[in-house]
Amino acid sequence: MRAGYRPAGGRLRRYADAVSAVDAVDAVDASAVSAVSGPVVAVVGAGQLARMMAQAAIGLGIPLRVLAEERGASAAQVVPEVLVGDHRDLRTLRRLVTGCAVVTFDHEHVPTEHLEALEAQGCVCRPGAAALVHAQNKAVMRERLARLGVPVPRFRLLHHAGEINDCMSELGRPLVLKATAGGYDGKGVWTVAAAAQARVAFATGSTVLAEERVDFARELAALVARSASGQMAAYPVVESVQQQGICAEVVAPAPDLDPELAVEAQRLAMRIAAALDVTGVLAVELFETADGTLLVNELAMRPHNTGHWSIDGAVTSQFENHLRAVLDLPLGDPSARAPWAVMANILGGRVGRLYDGYPHVLARDPAIRVHLYGKEVRPGRKVGHVTAYGSDLADVRARARHAAGWFAGTEEGQG
Ligand code: ADP
Repeated sequence: MRAGYRPAGGRLRRYADAVSAVDAVDAVDASAVSAVSGPVVAVVGAGQLARMMAQAAIGLGIPLRVLAEERGASAAQVVPEVLVGDHRDLRTLRRLVTGCAVVTFDHEHVPTEHLEALEAQGCVCRPGAAALVHAQNKAVMRERLARLGVPVPRFRLLHHAGEINDCMSELGRPLVLKATAGGYDGKGVWTVAAAAQARVAFATGSTVLAEERVDFARELAALVARSASGQMAAYPVVESVQQQGICAEVVAPAPDLDPELAVEAQRLAMRIAAALDVTGVLAVELFETADGTLLVNELAMRPHNTGHWSIDGAVTSQFENHLRAVLDLPLGDPSARAPWAVMANILGGRVGRLYDGYPHVLARDPAIRVHLYGKEVRPGRKVGHVTAYGSDLADVRARARHAAGWFAGTEEGQG
């Protein structure tokens, strides 16, 4: 039987364990759930972000319903109400939102026209289609931010490889080329020094975003939550360390950041959130240049990897504030609980069963916080993260790196 729920008569099929071979176990009425627990939140996507949203939803007593690409997906393992289906299919999306108060997202891949269709039928999408398009399409985002007077890298939109040489004369060499849609974790980003290398970027036939290569000193992220009625909470500005286009580590707050620049980054994020009418979490990825200026690189309108530290390191996590924001509840305090928090991603490595890392990691550091996403280990894949916090940055960083490295099998002394 296909996993999912049956909206006929408002009866929902509910699945206790999406991983096991157990099929439907009982049926729940959405309105009955809502009457006891409050409004049901639908989440498109069932990756680790939806899974960590579910963790916050449990605390708040809010039921979630997730749309998963497959039954074993990260959040589908822990959320009772799972619809398995394709987020590019409007009928599936309509089934997902039936009986839900609001729909939000674990990723930004729902076609804009489907979001518009859902909104036209009265469905509350948060963020809405008009906001989300800026996180879906880098060309739309860059042009809008430039119009708002937000500092961004110099850029051009290119339609064919023949425009590369002129573009290099204007923006310099090498150029950074980006697919306007569908990229993540460095996929869809190419640094090219010669026109011949640029062909790959034009292979899909869509517009390519070309921009100057910024000689940045480091990468920062400013994360804000904005509720439907416009309340905002700004998290401390963090430093994110990328390796091969993937976020490896996040330090909160960004060490030695000029306090004025920190405030500027937070103000920038709040200005963008308000101007684009974002509801939920907005993550603004920034470059800090050597002379202390900020450039906006990227926007995400959902909980973001640079905010994972907040689960253990802040008074209110980004996941809880995302839920509060989309339900238009008062937001929680985004302050840090300790002078330093370091989040290190666990990337798939030599160790096939992450659980085997627990005896060492947990015994060595009883204060380490571990989050495993229930994902199959594949090389380089984000399968979990750890967070350490405390008052000595060097110690906190070393603890986080050791734990993440142990799970990945890259620590010295591991056999
Ligand atoms: P995505 O989030 O889709 O993977 P990004 O635009 O964030 O793509 O780019 C991924 C990484 O590539 C960035 O974190 C940064 O390290 C690097 N990068 C992106 N744009 C530039 C640029 N213009 N100059 C220098 N490095 C860049």
